[in-house]
Amino acid sequence: MPSHDNLRHAAARTARELADAFQAHGCSVQVVPQPPVDGQVYLSIHDPLTGYEAELLTAALAAYTAPHAPTPCEECRAIKRKRARALREGDRATAVEMATVMGFHQRYAHA
Ligand SMILES: [Zn+2]
Repeated sequence: MPSHDNLRHAAARTARELADAFQAHGCSVQVVPQPPVDGQVYLSIHDPLTGYEAELLTAALAAYTAPHAPTPCEECRAIKRKRARALREGDRATAVEMATVMGFHQRYAHA
């Protein structure tokens, strides 16, 4: 598992890169690295995204093709879906539990 420090650096770098990418399109979006939880990197976007900024983000992701696209893992997707639903419904306990479950799954299925 990556060290706590590596995860903190990865979060800081990704937050900076994402903010810079928005900046390059004339958008000012504050992206804040969060402390790692269970071996996972978290970022917060501290500004409400305008329609244009949201569109930039989805268009960039849609246009991106990873050099070695990982095969989607059904288990990962199920855990993410469950966590997203819990966050939407304000079920914090389940959201936190799913973050932990994802940490274990990443460690044992994808290490
Ligand atoms: Zn998986």
